[in-house]
Amino acid sequence: MYLKSLTLKGFKSFADRTSMSFDPGLNVVVGPNGSGKSNVSDAILWVLGEQSAKMLRGQAMEDVIFSGSSARPAVGVAEVTLVLDNSDHTLPIDFSEVGITRRMYRSGESEYLINGAPARLMDVQDILHDSGLGKDTHSIISQGKLDSILQSRPEERRELIEEAADISKHRRRKERSLRK
Ligand code: ATP
Ligand code: MG
Repeated sequence: MYLKSLTLKGFKSFADRTSMSFDPGLNVVVGPNGSGKSNVSDAILWVLGEQSAKMLRGQAMEDVIFSGSSARPAVGVAEVTLVLDNSDHTLPIDFSEVGITRRMYRSGESEYLINGAPARLMDVQDILHDSGLGKDTHSIISQGKLDSILQSRPEERRELIEEAADISKHRRRKERSLRK
């Protein structure tokens, strides 16, 4: 499985629809300061279900929506689609390509789509979790994260180890069933 493409529209500095494609192996995004490189990694986190505005370097979730520039007005909706190549069937879904879309309106209304069909955040999380992707699976390591791991408390470090050992999904499922 690998990240095949990413399309942003109205997300942070990407007012216009912008698509980028990636190849298997290492891909590098380069550009001048402030050109939107970190916004690209924010978009990946966001479409994978990130719920914390702070993790996306904002104050409120609405900050992901293009807020206008001297050249153009703000937009009302942010949308990101990420396409994963699943021809090796890493993801437990019967498609060789999996597109995940997240959309958010200024009203706060939010929706997810999996291959174009409406889905819940929980569905997105379930598809991604066993693959080692997803928001808490350390597939994205931001600046400062390594420091916080080194300085973390034993309980926090345990969570990391459980994640790596693939145990945490069972804990998540147990907690979910206890809530019902
Ligand atoms: P550096 O090399 O300094 O890390 P970068 O390429 O990672 O830079 P980003 O942090 O991705 O740059 O982009 C910053 C730009 O995105 C800023 O100009 C900021 O104003 C713009 N930006 C962030 N959120 C929004 C938004 N909601 N609407 C419009 N522009 C935004
Ligand atoms: Mg940056």
